[in-house]
Amino acid sequence: MLRKLLIANRGEIACRIIRTARELGIRTVAVYSDADRHAQHVQLADESIYIGPAPSAESYLVIDKIIAAAQQTGADAIHPGYGFLSENEDFADACARHQIIFVGPPTSAIAAMGSKSAAKAIMEEAGVPLVPGYHGADQSPARLRQAAEEIGYPVMLKAAYGGGGKGMRIIASAAEFDAALESAKREAQAAFGNDKMLLEKYLKNPRHVEIQVFCDEHGNAVYLAERDCSVQRRHQKVIEEAPAPTLASSTRVAMGEAAVRAAQAIDYVGAGTVEFLLDTNNQFYFMEMNTRLQVEHPVTEMVTGQDLVAWQLMIASGEPLPLAQDQIMVHGHAFEARIYAEDPDHDFLPSTGTLSLLQPPATSAHIRIDSGVIEGDEVSSYYDPMIAKLIVWGENRTVALSRLIRALNDYRIAGVRTNIDFLRRIAGHKKFMQAELTTHFIERYHADLF
Ligand code: ADP
Repeated sequence: MLRKLLIANRGEIACRIIRTARELGIRTVAVYSDADRHAQHVQLADESIYIGPAPSAESYLVIDKIIAAAQQTGADAIHPGYGFLSENEDFADACARHQIIFVGPPTSAIAAMGSKSAAKAIMEEAGVPLVPGYHGADQSPARLRQAAEEIGYPVMLKAAYGGGGKGMRIIASAAEFDAALESAKREAQAAFGNDKMLLEKYLKNPRHVEIQVFCDEHGNAVYLAERDCSVQRRHQKVIEEAPAPTLASSTRVAMGEAAVRAAQAIDYVGAGTVEFLLDTNNQFYFMEMNTRLQVEHPVTEMVTGQDLVAWQLMIASGEPLPLAQDQIMVHGHAFEARIYAEDPDHDFLPSTGTLSLLQPPATSAHIRIDSGVIEGDEVSSYYDPMIAKLIVWGENRTVALSRLIRALNDYRIAGVRTNIDFLRRIAGHKKFMQAELTTHFIERYHADLF
């Protein structure tokens, strides 16, 4: 097993990783910026190292500072969490060069999935179904426009190196093409430093269903069921659940097997998520693979009874997967609601301030709260304004959903605006209760949710 783990992250995910490391008897090192001197992840860790000013570009994103902190403390491994450097191949490479174990996949797998276009080419080769589209090298506007005609409008234009819903445009007709291409390229260049584009058929009413996969260094690969992340705002997940309701078991197995094929096609090791769009006719299509632990991993933990961070740490230390595919069982139903400091009256802009009151609902075997802040902490403008993830379990979807609603009702936060009322309206919506899930849920029922 690993001896000492540095967590190159902050907030709830750093706290969550530290908890499992402690249970496994691994010593932990936190890193922190000026804004995080008194943060929970610093308090929880055995040791902590200051890495610079509050802006993440000067602290959490500086590879050399993280590596130096690991060397200084004698950490033998680094867990990157999600976001920040978690999918940065230069970082994984720097860890390898300094003989530090990177808790994640090989650099080659990160690189292979770093571009959505390259990823799609590899998946096509591996026989994983793709959304019909164009992911070629010829990026001339004329070629892209021709590809859009061939695919047939409406089309989805995406930045190859994009994420977080940026650089994406739905193009309804040829007349809109040139302007959309230009603005998406500009946005992608600014956000990702690369304006390569791909095109996909725009699916009208899809669900977002993703598969959790795990692979070890010994050639074993399994999937740990799926998560439905259809409820999104501006292509960003709002409430996630596992398993995906009303999914035929044949589709579930076919998706799981396709996800494992996807991982094996790039010699994957560790935790990964293969994201699919599921069409109304039960066809599923590969969208992208995230080569890290996902924000929404707890819903999978709740229904499988497994600790995914423990799995990551075991695999990173060279151990085989703890379970074979036929030993992985799904029990009951789980939801995760992302609780954010944001202002619903102002387009969900981050709401900063001091958490003068922070009273979460009581936790139990069925209610889990992953958070990195306590009452009195500051929500600053430097980082993602997530306050907590509320995760609930029930023997079935109905029970889990009523627990979610009750827990949202019990949440008390003051000092910043939050999205809790919005989450409560979604969870309590008749159509959500009926599991009428599509990626347009929030738009479609907008009037009921605000
Ligand atoms: P990002 O990496 O920026 O999150 P994704 O490619 O994962 O972007 O897509 C984000 C979301 O956008 C999906 O979950 C889905 O709701 C929507 N989406 C993506 N591709 C399509 C498509 N071809 N048709 C319809 N909706 C799509």
